[in-house]
Amino acid sequence: MDVQTCLTKLKLVGVLDFATVDEEGAPQVRNISAIHFEGTDLYFLTARGKYFASQLRADGRVQILGYTKYKETIRLSGRVETLTEAEQKKWRDVLYREQPYLENVYPGETKNIDEIYVLRAYTISYFCLSTRPITRAYFSVGGAPEIRRGYRIGDDCIHCGTCQSVCPQGAITEGEPFVIDRSHCLECGNCMEHCPAGAIERY
Ligand code: SF4
Ligand code: SF4
Repeated sequence: MDVQTCLTKLKLVGVLDFATVDEEGAPQVRNISAIHFEGTDLYFLTARGKYFASQLRADGRVQILGYTKYKETIRLSGRVETLTEAEQKKWRDVLYREQPYLENVYPGETKNIDEIYVLRAYTISYFCLSTRPITRAYFSVGGAPEIRRGYRIGDDCIHCGTCQSVCPQGAITEGEPFVIDRSHCLECGNCMEHCPAGAIERY
């Protein structure tokens, strides 16, 4: 798996979930199909007066989620950037060309109410449940900081093997200490709950 393959899959999914946080910190999610992929940049559109636009302007963080028929979850997380007037016009035209239904929604000059945002720096979390073991991968795009999350085994490990026996995906290998392979880890926490030495932590 790689960045371009993840983006191609999202493009094929077409309609993606876009999550933001509102002024009270509550999650807000909606489906968006007016998306243009340019290299690793994602341009998308919403009307300036929408709550979605207010949340993007106020906070900027967005999480974009797509799910494929192969049981793959692809999640992009980052902070949007706003564009100049000239860029707005350029990418609005591109989006309207690619998504003709938009002309039906905002005909003629009314399309000027649309605002274009771009996501350039983001992380990708790829998670596939149709392989055995499952596949997980993380990527950083445009200088976004790497995703640091998962479970790890520390020096308190007494090499008893309990975690290995309870891992549903066989993601743990023997060693001193034992080691979790992040690329096959469900992040379910079963190993941590069963470790007699308290040697496993979520980071
Ligand atoms: S269960 Fe805990 S102590 Fe035992 S091998 Fe796993 S990490 Fe080490
Ligand atoms: S968190 Fe779950 S999948 Fe990951 S190593 Fe532990 S038991 Fe296995």
